[in-house]
Amino acid sequence: MAVIYERVALIGLGLIASSMAHAMKAKGLAGEVVGYAKSAESRAVALEIGFCDRVEETAAKAVVGADLVVLAVPVGAMGAIAEEIGPHLAPGATVTDVGSVKQAVIAAVAPHIPEGVHFIAGHPIAGTEHSGPRSGFATLFQNRWWLLTPQGADAAAVARLRALCEGMGAKVDEMDAAHHDLVLAVTSHTPHLIAYTMVGVADDLRRVTDSEVINYSAAGFRDFTRIAASDPTMWRDVFLTNKEATLDILGRFTEELFALQRAIRLGDGDHLHAYFTRTRAIRRGIIEAGQDTAAPDFGRAAQVAPKGG
Ligand code: NAP
Repeated sequence: MAVIYERVALIGLGLIASSMAHAMKAKGLAGEVVGYAKSAESRAVALEIGFCDRVEETAAKAVVGADLVVLAVPVGAMGAIAEEIGPHLAPGATVTDVGSVKQAVIAAVAPHIPEGVHFIAGHPIAGTEHSGPRSGFATLFQNRWWLLTPQGADAAAVARLRALCEGMGAKVDEMDAAHHDLVLAVTSHTPHLIAYTMVGVADDLRRVTDSEVINYSAAGFRDFTRIAASDPTMWRDVFLTNKEATLDILGRFTEELFALQRAIRLGDGDHLHAYFTRTRAIRRGIIEAGQDTAAPDFGRAAQVAPKGG
């Protein structure tokens, strides 16, 4: 494939950024990949693995001369990074981000993007519970959705970024930032919260039943523990910044849970059976859409509904 950006600056060198670097290198999509992460250790790992050609000690230095800058830090850190790099961005460059929440990132980043630089927020719906520069791999985005929320950005700049995402194997869709945040609250954010809660409940129980919870944990609970192992900083920021939509969906979830609780108490098997039949059909729909994954991942399940909301 042809080079799409001559110099890509990755700000943050964790799972998403390192996977992007691996994918861009595998497909020849970037002339040079420059990296910056908060810790010297992560910067050294990026060089050791070789997914960055060069690393810099500040974000401001890393973006100099880059025609694409990718903000791949936790959502809560985006605004401060944007403020730091703003004066150093090259005219005509594109800035994008990969944050899991869009409205809050746009509000924090956009004010720092100078005139003549394109800001196109985005979110690859792909991930694992692992983090850090050693966790990335080139095929992470293969057949996954990459959602862009361009909000009126220059069409040629959007087309170029879209080509990069597609070059890394993703399918691209565009949507409004508020719609994105609601869809992701349903398909990723609230399910993560439920997983965190379930594992917390089991941990409390473990004190009563010794190690039975772990020893006899069935596949369902093991999946919860895997999801609940996701990075605490990233997920703290997701809930703090997608507060409204998450609380809305959590409210609806609680109502449904009460209805199921009532059906169990009343012995209403018809209600339970009808409910489980409906949810089973949703699972089949995911498989038919080719969006099943080797290991279950609530975040990835978002890919069935980027438009539906
Ligand atoms: P990660 O593996 O934890 O990596 C985060 C990177 O950001 C690390 O390199 C870290 O530096 C750096 N960083 C953290 N705070 C910083 C700060 N204040 N200034 C500069 N650098 C900082 O995270 P990730 O999973 O790649 O997630 C990155 C972004 O992608 C997040 O916004 C997340 O919402 C989004 N996202 C994640 C997933 C997923 O499943 N993981 C999926 C889609 C989107 P050090 O290495 O030095 O600590």
